[in-house]
Amino acid sequence: MARGPHPARCIISSGPPNKSPCGGLENEHAARLQYMEKRKKKKKRNVDSECRQFNDEWNIKYFFVKANDKALCLICKDSVAVLKEYNIRRHYESKHGSSYSHIIGAERTKKAIYKVAYVLAKKGKPFTDGSIIKECIVEAAGELCPEKVNLFKMISLGSNTVARRIEDLGGDIIRQIKEKAKRFCWYSLALDESTDVCDTSQLLVFIRGVDSEFNVTQELASVHSMHTTTTGEDIFN
Ligand SMILES: [Zn+2]
Repeated sequence: MARGPHPARCIISSGPPNKSPCGGLENEHAARLQYMEKRKKKKKRNVDSECRQFNDEWNIKYFFVKANDKALCLICKDSVAVLKEYNIRRHYESKHGSSYSHIIGAERTKKAIYKVAYVLAKKGKPFTDGSIIKECIVEAAGELCPEKVNLFKMISLGSNTVARRIEDLGGDIIRQIKEKAKRFCWYSLALDESTDVCDTSQLLVFIRGVDSEFNVTQELASVHSMHTTTTGEDIFN
């Protein structure tokens, strides 16, 4: 019936979902991000949706909103007809960049931390590497753009911050899976096993479901460490 991205070892249930299986382990978040990244690479690029649709991020980045299939600048009320980030950024930077860039500075710093945390998680690197990355960024910025080096020093990449950001990202993915799972008409679970760097067995739970519009969703739903034996009985317990 269902085949996971890895060869499925067994299928344990099928039918309408009661609740989404999920756990709260840090390595689970990291594993999920790595899995999502692999999935993303397989997806086809859609040039149309990349370039010609209004991106909600532009609200915060450039103070633009969507109005009548155009992008409307909230500062000067001019509109930009071509929905391309290049055009919108050019308008913002040439007309308003100098007066408004300080407002979104904090937002950008926050986003930079999330982006670094995401890279660390998807590459399976220790969270403590954040401080080394920050040191590298500050050194490189000191050479390339010394006038902006203080901006890079504001990025907080301590291990606790990175762990919290990865938890946020993982939590967001769990929320997305739960939202999709609510709309499933049918679903199946597939189990597989793996081991982590300490040779502890990991139980991987994949979910695949289909909603009433035949949208198929297949995701890594949960990862559990199995510290003793890994028999079928242990899995169900
Ligand atoms: Zn404007």
